[in-house]
Amino acid sequence: MSTLPDSSPASSLSASAGAEAGLRVVRAACPHDCPDTCAMLVGVRDGVAVQLRGDPQHPTTAGALCTKVSRYLERTYHPERVLQPLRRCGPKGSGQFEPVSWDQALDDIASRLRTLAAADPESILPYSYAGTMGFVQGESMAARFFHRLGASLLDRTICASAGAEGLRQVLGGLVGMDVEQFAHSRLIVIWGSNSITSNLHFWSLAQQARRAGATLVCIDPWRNETARRCHLHLQLRPGTDAALAWGLMGELVRNDWLDHDYIRHHTLGFEALRERALEWSAERAAETCGLEPQQVRELARLLGTTRAAGIRVNYGLQRVRGGGNAVRAIACLPALTGAWREAAGGLLLSSSGHFAVAHDALERPDLLGARRPRTINMSTIGDALLHPGGEGFGPRIDALVVYNSNPAVVAPESAKVLQGLRREDLFTVVLEHFRTDTADHADYVLPATTQLEHLDVLKSYGHRYWVANEPAIAPVGQARPNSAIFRELAARMGFDEPCFLDSDEAIAGQALAEDPRNAGLDFATLRRRGWGKLAVPDAPFAEGGFPTPSGRCQFVYPPDQEAGRDPLPQVILPHECAQTRPDLAARYPLALLSPPARNFLNSSFVNVESLRAGEKGPQLLVHPRDAAARGLREGQELRCFNDRGEMRAACRITEDTREGQVITLGLWWRKLSPDGRSVNDLTHQGLTDLGGGPCFYDCLVEVAPA
Ligand code: SF4
Repeated sequence: MSTLPDSSPASSLSASAGAEAGLRVVRAACPHDCPDTCAMLVGVRDGVAVQLRGDPQHPTTAGALCTKVSRYLERTYHPERVLQPLRRCGPKGSGQFEPVSWDQALDDIASRLRTLAAADPESILPYSYAGTMGFVQGESMAARFFHRLGASLLDRTICASAGAEGLRQVLGGLVGMDVEQFAHSRLIVIWGSNSITSNLHFWSLAQQARRAGATLVCIDPWRNETARRCHLHLQLRPGTDAALAWGLMGELVRNDWLDHDYIRHHTLGFEALRERALEWSAERAAETCGLEPQQVRELARLLGTTRAAGIRVNYGLQRVRGGGNAVRAIACLPALTGAWREAAGGLLLSSSGHFAVAHDALERPDLLGARRPRTINMSTIGDALLHPGGEGFGPRIDALVVYNSNPAVVAPESAKVLQGLRREDLFTVVLEHFRTDTADHADYVLPATTQLEHLDVLKSYGHRYWVANEPAIAPVGQARPNSAIFRELAARMGFDEPCFLDSDEAIAGQALAEDPRNAGLDFATLRRRGWGKLAVPDAPFAEGGFPTPSGRCQFVYPPDQEAGRDPLPQVILPHECAQTRPDLAARYPLALLSPPARNFLNSSFVNVESLRAGEKGPQLLVHPRDAAARGLREGQELRCFNDRGEMRAACRITEDTREGQVITLGLWWRKLSPDGRSVNDLTHQGLTDLGGGPCFYDCLVEVAPA
């Protein structure tokens, strides 16, 4: 049984902490699904991690961690950590387990997988995402294992695939501004993000810019804490971002706030864009978005006349049916105004495409040989688990191996996910720190190490630094790194390729591709220094050179043009709204959004008591007019429901949400919610226009007193 160590505030670890008697300082990296990828310092005394703080030397971390990860020691030494392998001993989903030895667990799992693979390896499905963003404990040894097995492939779409595809079509990849440059912007547009909660270190840079006189604009259907602190807030209807972008382009064209030289030399399809943009008056865009025309005009004026102007797009806006095209439309803006000419101008959705990663060396797709397994979209895991198998689908899924994810909570349309997980004929293995809702449905729960207990190397999707993570402490209990678990399973399966013997150090060393962007960087250097910055120009597209096939910023997408489709970004309204589903909207008139809670990171940290207490239980933000129409009272328990399910939450009446829109913050574990449900009981498995992503923020509901 582990105990919580010295609970002195983690922030007391100083840069000179190593000088304190007996305190060893270890460099680490935050593993969580967050663009900031903070560099951390862990203070260890007598083998126990006693202090944790952001590395003050790391340029974007600047010594600060968010509230959640400041409690990482509480999480690591949590009394409910899974400390030994567990085997199910009750009905599926009952959460009844008995402890077994590692050998018993691994022998049985290997035997079950071997039997299934002999019949059809595609009946086995890995399910993982960014529970850790590290390459060693993420997709390396695990990917090798499943490739060698010939298991089904997983399309990892659950967070970012729509925006990623939208950006790829326009800019050529997940590339953009250096986040550090926002400190020098004169205009910052924060589009689809509550940065204070989910991109804290960007927000610090935006504050620097603000102190130097920059104007901050937030575009979001929710007046969140970030929106409240910006000079302007455009509180648009959810799912109408592409219409706003077109309205802005219309104003830029009509007022000739354009950089014609940049457009001529570095873009593709301007004439077509110009013609379409002129169809969008400020009035038309405002009507679609639920804004005032003057708001559209004012933002267009700011974008067209301010140097340097940076747009921080985040993933919130692409969690609707038209999300991919919305990102396409927004990504056209900086090339029209020539904002890319300045390092502090342009756009950032993700920096991950700047990193040169040796994915093939890490994941070894060559182990598939000539086999081409089917691919299952993780965003429709509910339907996939319930599919009986057959033509067009392939074999029924008979085994699920979950690591770095919690699909019982995070995947849409929970009822179907749970029904699938409860299949008695589904063999489920879950690698986890805790008995999550998903782990409760496992046949085996295998205790995994936390970031303090294993080695890793991480890239970022918000900044441009590789960051190394050293193990600070020995594994707690019998926990093992994911890499070790898959290495052991591979040995039991008789996989004798040398790559299955690679140590974690060797894997980390393979992550950085030989590429000029990694000049002077290798894992040994990262271990020594903690991090290293990519060799990418501050203003990567000042002279064009976009990583598209044309080398230009693509207002039109050539493959669409060649196929006779409309090649410009489209305005695609949500699956569920009054325009597209008037029948549904008549019964369920409220749009439901479920952005992240400040104290949780997706479903991580919900079981850390001090953080959960900070959220005060599930709440539903309701506009005063919607509350009055339904006779709702502040604090009253509400039922939020549609045909797929329901959840309960306390009523909070506020103008921070739009009329016709309710908001609940996620993602609560089912078993830690008062009603045993989660917001994904309400969401559907409809997909985005591009990238096959989920539509979490594209969901109609009704609300009533419970
Ligand atoms: S979750 Fe994000 S902000 Fe918090 S410590 Fe990790 S990387 Fe930094």
